[in-house]
Amino acid sequence: MTEESIFTKIINGDIPSDLLYQDEHCICIKDISPQAPIHVLLIPKKPIPRLVDATLEDQHILGHLMLKAGEIAEELGVADAFRVIVNNGANAGQTVFHLHLHLLAGQTFSEGMV
Ligand code: AMP
Repeated sequence: MTEESIFTKIINGDIPSDLLYQDEHCICIKDISPQAPIHVLLIPKKPIPRLVDATLEDQHILGHLMLKAGEIAEELGVADAFRVIVNNGANAGQTVFHLHLHLLAGQTFSEGMV
């Protein structure tokens, strides 16, 4: 059995977090090392390691995460300007191998990589 990710430990309540939202499919927590004035993570309760590991069975969860990202941006008052990022794989900057969406806001993002 593979070792639990830090996010599974947070979901199970074994590690504390700054929890903003949760439902049956996902949690939303503040990132411990924010890269923007607002930086939260949307994490599915199902421990899918990377986006590329998701299957058709996960379609509902993936859609749910995107819809929740929009709703949470609304609740945080940043619906007009935010970024959603998924790092897939170590060479893309993924450090926690439990799928998550970064929601970044609260600053002006320049045109650059994307
Ligand atoms: P990534 O590099 O895309 O895998 O993103 C992992 C993110 O998880 C990073 O932005 C970390 O700052 C964040 N992170 C790691 N541990 C924790 C934690 N215990 N609570 C909140 N965020 C965390």
